[in-house]
Amino acid sequence: LKDKEKIFIDIPGSTADGIKLEIAANIAHPLEAQTAFDHGAESIGLFRTEMLYMDRHCEPSEDELYNTFCQAIEAAKQRTIIIRTFDIGGDKPVNYLNIPSENNPFLGYRAVRIYQEFLTLFRTQLRAILRASAHGKLKIMIPMISSMEEILWIKEELTIIKQSLRNEKIPFDEKIPLGIMLEVPSMMFIIDQCCEEIDFFSIGSNDLTQYLLAVDRDNEKVTKHYNSLNPAFLRGLDHIVKEVHHYGKWIGICGELASKGSVLPLLVGLGFDELSMSSPNLLSTKARLKKLNRSDCRILLNKAMNCRTSLEVEHLLAQFRMEQA
Ligand code: PEP
Ligand code: MG
Repeated sequence: LKDKEKIFIDIPGSTADGIKLEIAANIAHPLEAQTAFDHGAESIGLFRTEMLYMDRHCEPSEDELYNTFCQAIEAAKQRTIIIRTFDIGGDKPVNYLNIPSENNPFLGYRAVRIYQEFLTLFRTQLRAILRASAHGKLKIMIPMISSMEEILWIKEELTIIKQSLRNEKIPFDEKIPLGIMLEVPSMMFIIDQCCEEIDFFSIGSNDLTQYLLAVDRDNEKVTKHYNSLNPAFLRGLDHIVKEVHHYGKWIGICGELASKGSVLPLLVGLGFDELSMSSPNLLSTKARLKKLNRSDCRILLNKAMNCRTSLEVEHLLAQFRMEQA
């Protein structure tokens, strides 16, 4: 850790003009939680749980998952952890589930779309999360939601699992917040309805970029088209954040975009409540943030949204950086 940045470890993220912006970490294993907090994370904005299912011969038991979540809670103390239910399938195969390979895995059978067939697997995970929620601040987040039907189905499932825990007198957080990943473009147009049903959102910019621009995130032939600085994408983000805040809900962003230092002024301009990123980027982000003014960032964002090409946006950011230095 750089000495100049270490001073930010216990300081919450905020801009030069005092606007708070929670700086959170992405993790995929409970042991990474401690590292994240040592690197200045204010919370865990994304616990990718699919790794707990991969590279093994059978599914983890409820107790195993419960212990895993408790381990992360211990590192978090009273800080929040957003646990994302498993994003398995498509390009993330799990041998023992025998999901056939597909021509179009990113448009296929993955994440929330497999939960009905693998209902026990999903319910076991929900039970483990709920049981662990008795010991710390947890939130549940569902990946790849693309319709209201899916949200309503998830809520029914959550109600069933909560009731069975009550019947068994097993404690859990009755008010555990439920959120969704915003990573499928259809959701951008029903944010008003979503806000009536769920508590929070986090933008998965990796997938939202690939779906909004119709560019496979793993296909090298089209990487030049995979650009989150595309003005159309920035306008999409602006629409989302404005809508969510209009309806009084909370929104973070947990894709790779959140850890790009050069893009930080735009994210500040957009007005997110939280940025979640890999641990090595936490302190440098807090340090950069401290030098930015929210009002300057908003002006910059408006200019970026009026650019016609990604390259123009890149030049704009480079110029902004030079003026800041
Ligand atoms: C995303 O899509 O931006 C995201 C955070 O999820 P993942 O990269 O795990 O698909
Ligand atoms: Mg995703």
